[in-house]
Amino acid sequence: MGTGGLAPGLLNQLRQDLAVSLAHPVRVMDQVLPTKEAFVLDRQQYSVDVLLQTMQRPAVDPETKRIAVTDVDLFLPVFAHVLGSAQLNGQLGIASTHRLCPMFAGEPMDLHKLRLRILKEVMHELGHTFGLVHCQLSWCVMNASLLPEHVDLKDPSYCGSCAEVMNVPKDGILSFFLKGDNE
Ligand SMILES: [Zn+2]
Ligand SMILES: [Zn+2]
Repeated sequence: MGTGGLAPGLLNQLRQDLAVSLAHPVRVMDQVLPTKEAFVLDRQQYSVDVLLQTMQRPAVDPETKRIAVTDVDLFLPVFAHVLGSAQLNGQLGIASTHRLCPMFAGEPMDLHKLRLRILKEVMHELGHTFGLVHCQLSWCVMNASLLPEHVDLKDPSYCGSCAEVMNVPKDGILSFFLKGDNE
């Protein structure tokens, strides 16, 4: 089931939401994430591993974290699907709106709901790039979630101990890849 691509303005909205949540500059990159090579025909899904490799170009500034936001369905070899993934203690992460979109579950489109879900998912993957592992607190954004319903139960914030590990460098910048063409 298609989701009709990223809603117009969603990335910019996300950039603003994230800048507020993190009190940190966030930039939307002018590049489009190429997805063709990551497509696996027999799964009809896109490989996170291949996409993260693709995201290494252009080279990532050492002070920068780069998170891609896409609308394609993502998988890892050990999981039937993932909402996102990231390099633990690395610089790259990816989050997908594919299953977060209310329309995926047959519900009417709800932009506010999607906006909040993708914000939490990006914050979660970002946390992994800062070395955070999954948190046991149900409301913490670092709590594990494989389903959108689980994402809804979390707050768009890090608990005290997760926030401490995050320690976002003040001079660094977070950037986004624009979504890839989905053909
Ligand atoms: Zn996680
Ligand atoms: Zn936590």
